[in-house]
Amino acid sequence: MPNATQSASAGQMPDADGQPNAPDASAGASARPAVAARVKIHARDVNVHYGDKHALKHVDLDVNEHDVTALIGPSGCGKSTFLRCMNRMNDVIDNCQVTGSITLDGTDVYDPSLDVVQLRARVGMVFQKPNPFPKSIYENVAYGPRIHGIARGKSELDEIVHRSLTRAGLLKEVSDRLNEPGTGLSGGQQQRLCIARAIAVNPEVILMDEPCSALDPIATAKIEELIDELRENYTIVIVTHSMQQAARVSQRTAFFHLGDLVEVGDTEQIFTNPKDNRTQGYITGRFG
Ligand code: ADP
Repeated sequence: MPNATQSASAGQMPDADGQPNAPDASAGASARPAVAARVKIHARDVNVHYGDKHALKHVDLDVNEHDVTALIGPSGCGKSTFLRCMNRMNDVIDNCQVTGSITLDGTDVYDPSLDVVQLRARVGMVFQKPNPFPKSIYENVAYGPRIHGIARGKSELDEIVHRSLTRAGLLKEVSDRLNEPGTGLSGGQQQRLCIARAIAVNPEVILMDEPCSALDPIATAKIEELIDELRENYTIVIVTHSMQQAARVSQRTAFFHLGDLVEVGDTEQIFTNPKDNRTQGYITGRFG
């Protein structure tokens, strides 16, 4: 694989949930069987260095199609680093070197001839802090389809914008003010606008890096509900510092510690019957 270059902030959140006990995985979405178990993203022996820092060590992970996969673990364990490997966002981080193999439906994500812009349309991303463009609500969603030439005309673009806002659970709240600035929405609405923006370019996978960490509990609940709905059409990978959130929204959970992928399995199994002592220690609040 080529070295990734440039810089971006890791922007990590504190990890402690302050929750002494493991969450009740049986109560959440994870209790339902996954829709399908076809592997969408296949990662093998992935190593990431930031200069001398070995941030991810020999990670093997399969992401199943139409599952929500949660990446959990203490702050600094490599969750966001791994998330960014999947759509080559680490390419924009200075001194970051990625090795190993990651395929998306069999296509090598790190093939030098791959169009990274196209890759990031297939594997979209939603960040911690909602980051709408300083444009109207309509233009925020229309931007991607325009630059990718997805819509053939105004009516098709309108249709995409409406469909994306509907899927992001936002249309009803904004239908009368599509020409007003996206930045004027509440935090939770802005995050759903960012999800609509990601959806508008027909992604197959949506990567979410602590998408609720800047939101209040009500806005968080809406995003969590939305994540569960979205998995019908998309494959979702979410980094979360909240074990309760992982239990509520995911079907599979991967636990990282000090750059190692310690354990991955069905969310219910990870939270009720972890195989590794480090996982057990983390979910019972002994460290984190
Ligand atoms: P997490 O998401 O689990 O909190 P990260 O993936 O952000 O962890 O970070 C993993 C490790 O890599 C940490 O030790 C962090 O300090 C380091 N790291 C992350 N981003 C950078 C960067 N841009 N430059 C140098 N080190 C980094």
